[in-house]
Amino acid sequence: VGTTEHGTVIIAVGDEVLGGFTVDTNSHWLAGRVREAGFPAQRIEVVADRSDAIVEAVQRAIREKRADRVIVCGGLGPTPDDRTLEAVALALGRPVEVHPDALAHVQGIVERMHAAGWIDQPAISEPNRKMTLAPHGAEILENRRGMASGILVPLPHADGPGGSPLDADLADPLRDRWLAILPGVPREMQTIVEEELIPRHFTGATAETVVELRYRYAIEAEFVAPMQAVEAEFPDVAVGSYPQTERRELVVRFKGADPERVAAAAARVKEMRPPREGEDDPG
Ligand code: ATP
Ligand code: MG
Repeated sequence: VGTTEHGTVIIAVGDEVLGGFTVDTNSHWLAGRVREAGFPAQRIEVVADRSDAIVEAVQRAIREKRADRVIVCGGLGPTPDDRTLEAVALALGRPVEVHPDALAHVQGIVERMHAAGWIDQPAISEPNRKMTLAPHGAEILENRRGMASGILVPLPHADGPGGSPLDADLADPLRDRWLAILPGVPREMQTIVEEELIPRHFTGATAETVVELRYRYAIEAEFVAPMQAVEAEFPDVAVGSYPQTERRELVVRFKGADPERVAAAAARVKEMRPPREGEDDPG
């Protein structure tokens, strides 16, 4: 049931993910956080460390009406394979420039490294200069755990009259559209999201209610009729069946905006397929 008004598109950037070397835990973690904030993921996409791939993914996301938030993560570092910043700026048609907050952040780290005797000069090296840059009009999201700051850029409205991104209405958090660029290192990404991005820029929306029924040793086919009944009687509630084969458990999960309707839908399934002896049913 895709009734969600406000959604997020998550774009993970990285050849290591596409190649099967790295598990995309960033998208998985982000999907949970944005759902809890009331901006559930509409789509998760993984693209290569290639400018054209990143540009295309960002432009696809911008065209989606319900994508009020876009998160691009990975490829913000100093190495030549980190192309996310430039590609996103290109996709948004914004020039890249030194951002005073990002500059101050990198300068602060360099000065502490110098004071600790790790580097000879308290000067920003050429590769690290990249992390002082941001697209024009961006806001910096502080990264307490690393050098690459998070970056927040306002987006034009997908259904708008083609107004300039710079004219985005920043007064109403639910009317705002933002794109965030985050570093790929999970610890850094998570810190920025928890400390900066969610509290300040994912406000005003309400998370859907989630209710789960857990059956042990249940046969999935037994749930076809109960789920069909719920789909017919509760078009405003999404129901899914998720067998956890290794735990020998079946999770039936209900999701919707109205907590009472979600509870009623779960009760309907329980009534049609009551838990048997030996089955746990915390729902
Ligand atoms: P850095 O400043 O360290 O270069 P970055 O923003 O450039 O950070 P990446 O180079 O893309 O980030 O990735 C850094 C590390 O983060 C990688 O070694 C990888 O282990 C991890 N990483 C990247 N993307 C993901 C992802 N989607 N899920 C889990 N881990 C990831
Ligand atoms: Mg990378």
